[in-house]
Amino acid sequence: MPFYRKRFDEMGLNPTHIKTLADVTLLPFTEKQDLRNHYPYGLLAVPKDNIVRLHASSGTTGKAVVMGYTARDLENWSEMAARSLAAAGVTRSDIVHVAYGYGLFTGGLGAQGGAEYMGATVVPASGGASKRQAHLIRDFGATVLCCTPTYALHLWEAGMEVGINFRDLPLRIGVFGAEPWSEEMRRDMEDKMDINAMNIYGLSEIMGPGVAMECVGSKCGMHVWEDHFLPEIIDPATGEQMPDGETGELVLTTLTKEGVPLIRYRTRDLTSIDVTPCVCGRTHTRIARLRGRTDDMLIIRGVNVFPQQIESLLMESEGLTPNYQIIVDRANNMDTLEVRVEVSDTLFADEIRKLQLLETRLQKNIKEFLGISTKVRLMEPHSIARSEGKAKRIVDNRALD
Ligand code: ADP
Ligand code: ZN
Repeated sequence: MPFYRKRFDEMGLNPTHIKTLADVTLLPFTEKQDLRNHYPYGLLAVPKDNIVRLHASSGTTGKAVVMGYTARDLENWSEMAARSLAAAGVTRSDIVHVAYGYGLFTGGLGAQGGAEYMGATVVPASGGASKRQAHLIRDFGATVLCCTPTYALHLWEAGMEVGINFRDLPLRIGVFGAEPWSEEMRRDMEDKMDINAMNIYGLSEIMGPGVAMECVGSKCGMHVWEDHFLPEIIDPATGEQMPDGETGELVLTTLTKEGVPLIRYRTRDLTSIDVTPCVCGRTHTRIARLRGRTDDMLIIRGVNVFPQQIESLLMESEGLTPNYQIIVDRANNMDTLEVRVEVSDTLFADEIRKLQLLETRLQKNIKEFLGISTKVRLMEPHSIARSEGKAKRIVDNRALD
C-alpha cells in the first residue's frame, strides 16, 4: 500500500527491523485522520475489482471514513461475528432479531452475517418503527435481540406501551454494543427483559461488530479475536505501550484484513487488557468494558469525566431510567454541567419534595465520587429524545461561544 510504504520509507523502516512481536512498537500508528485524508479509496491494499462491499463509519466524530472489504474479509467477519454470538450463548436454533441499523453502518449487516453463518434465523428489522418491531419480536418468537443498548431500552418501552412485556417472551439474549454502557445499565436491562445482556465491541475501521465479545460464562471483559487482530494499550498522551491491566487507548493491528489492512490503528477507545485465564476456557485475551472514547471525555473545570461514570451513579438510584443527557455550558468563563435524567412513571407520581430530595442527593453523590459540581434535573418520563442507534449523551453548548 503506497500509504504505508511512504511512511516506512520516511522513517527508514524496512522488514528486516521487525524480528519479534515486541518490535511492533517500531511501527507507526495509523489515525482516523489518515483514513479521512485518503477518502474514499486511498487506503485500499488490493485492486478495486477485488472489493465486494463498502461500509462507512457512522461519523459520530466528524467526516465519515470508508472501508472496502474483499470476499475473504466478509467471510472472516461473518465467522468472527458468529463466534461472538456463540460466546454470548447463541445457537443455530435461535431467532435473531437484528435492530442495528442497516446500510453503510456496519451493525445490521455485521450481526446478520454472523447469525446466518452459524445457521440461526435472522429477522433483519433494522432501526425504526419501534412498536411494530415489538410486535415482530413477539410474533416471530425472537430469542436474541441485537441492537445498541439504548435502542433495546427504547424497544422495550415501545413494547410496554402496546402491552408486550419482553419478560413474558422467549427472548433470552441481548447482543448490545456500538456505544458505551455501564454495568449498572446491564443489570437494569437484564432485570427489565429477563435476558443475558451481552457486550459486543467493534468499529468499522477495523471490521465492524465482532472484534471483541463477552462470553456468557464470565461476563467479565470481551475476548479479542487475536487470530485476526493484535491488541495493544497505549498511553494516549505519549504513545507508549502500557502494562496489562492499566487503562489506556486501545490500538489494533489487523492481521488478516485484505481490503484495508491497518497497522496500529488508534481507536480512541479507552480500556485495559486482561490476560488472566477466563472461566469459559477461551484463551483469547480480554479487554475491559470500554470506559468511553477519548473524544467523549469531558474536562470540567480541570476534572476528567466520562458520561458512563455519571450513568453508573444515576443507575444506583431507584426510580431513575437510563435515559439521560449531559448538558455542558459556560457561564462567566466557568464550565457548567447539568445532568438531565428521566424518572420512572411511579416516581414521577410521587411528591415534589421527594423528587427534590433525590436531586440534591444525586448532586451530592456526583460531587463526592467525581469531584465536580453539577445541577441535576429530574425529567418527566419520555421527555428526552430516544435514539434508534447510538445515544447522544452529551450536548456541549460551549462550542457555540
Ligand atoms: P463512529 O461511531 O466512530 O462513527 P462506528 O459506527 O464504527 O464509528 O463505531 C465504532 C465505535 O463505537 C467504537 O470505536 C467505540 O467507540 C464504540 N463502540 C462500539 N462497541 C462498543 C461497546 N461495546 N462499548 C462501548 N463503545 C463501543
Ligand atoms: Zn470467557
